Amino acid sequence: MLEKESAVKGIISKGVKYVAGREKIKPELLAEKVAEGKVVILKHRNRYLGIGNGLKTKVNANIGTSPDIVDIKSEIEKLKAACKYGVDTIMDLSTGGNINKIRKIIVERSPVPIGTVPVYQSAIETIDEKGALIKMDTDKLFEVIERHAEDKVSFVTLHCGVTFRTLERLKKSPRKTMVVSRGGAFLLSWMIANEKENPLYEQFDRVLEIARKYDLILSLGDGMRPGGIVDATDNSQIDELLTLGELTKRAWEQGVQVIIEGPGHIPLNEIPANVVLQKKICKGAPFYVLGPLVTDIAPGYDHITSAIGAAVAGWHGADYICYVTSSEHLGLPNVEEVVEGTIAAKIAAHSADIAKGLKHSAEWDHKMSVARTQRNWQEERKLAIDTVKFDKIHRRYKTSEKDVCTMCGKYCAIKTVEKYLGVKIITG
Ligand code: SF4
Repeated sequence: MLEKESAVKGIISKGVKYVAGREKIKPELLAEKVAEGKVVILKHRNRYLGIGNGLKTKVNANIGTSPDIVDIKSEIEKLKAACKYGVDTIMDLSTGGNINKIRKIIVERSPVPIGTVPVYQSAIETIDEKGALIKMDTDKLFEVIERHAEDKVSFVTLHCGVTFRTLERLKKSPRKTMVVSRGGAFLLSWMIANEKENPLYEQFDRVLEIARKYDLILSLGDGMRPGGIVDATDNSQIDELLTLGELTKRAWEQGVQVIIEGPGHIPLNEIPANVVLQKKICKGAPFYVLGPLVTDIAPGYDHITSAIGAAVAGWHGADYICYVTSSEHLGLPNVEEVVEGTIAAKIAAHSADIAKGLKHSAEWDHKMSVARTQRNWQEERKLAIDTVKFDKIHRRYKTSEKDVCTMCGKYCAIKTVEKYLGVKIITG
């Protein structure tokens, strides 16, 4: 039975039990949220992951080859590095080399659920076979979706909300960045050239059939996400969101679990409204945000611009954060940039969880505060999100006194106050 269907029947599935244990919530409550579509349960081998309302904010890292850089070894290194630093899912966005082989290796080696964007492969194979993506056969697209499901990916991004109506809005809009989603661009080009509606929208029942067959989670993609602050929360973006809301309902009626993908580039002040709109229109379905990046002017630092947006989005209810690396807008990330991006997104997710008031989330911080006050460097290192950087900086210079750091040296504020108060300020 499908995960959502069993939850609707009030059955506590293996997946619900597993996730409830990890998230420290009652299985009955979790099953209710799965039944309502507010939480999705992803399966990867014999492990499960919950994403959605009331659960810890999850983080995804995108990896994968590009047409210019095909280095499977490096992609495996990225997979390992992202997992080492605690990502919850990986998306394989490979567009270069033997895509089938790369996906199979990543699914096999990954300890966390894998997501993909099948339209990339469908378009690339069509270009290879027929010379142009506009010659893509509709059957080909569905065949590739099923191929990915057969390979046991846990979720697929499908840009089902890019329709003729959206296209008309886009043409009339003053949008500056047009379309920055690769999947959205492929589909729009195909639609315009063939004068046909998006097959993922027009034949959504066929999408649902595949999803039901494999209990595949649909991550309804944001092909019209704004690619710049100037276009944030515009007509095209919201039009697509309205369609995604309708499709969510249809998917739920068929017992298919759904995640909704969101922007993109959004100024800080518009992030709360974007979360509210998504939650309202999509009836509480989990919200998966790419960043959002809160400014466009920092190429080389987009792990920071996106972490700022992600923390605010998470605080206001976004459930799932896609990391952005410092190489965004510039090139394919290397392993170091994947680590940096993962850590930035993890910090954002954790900060959001504290703000969401999630039970147990601030305990980690509490322990760090105690260790810092006690100048228990070993414990501080153990609690640090990145021990490599901790060591690099902490061991850089010699300290004048053993139990302080070189920031204030013998004028260590904590030590001074401790001496004159005659007690350790915090003891745990
Ligand atoms: S020296 Fe300054 S920065 Fe270092 S532990 Fe003491 S108060 Fe903190």
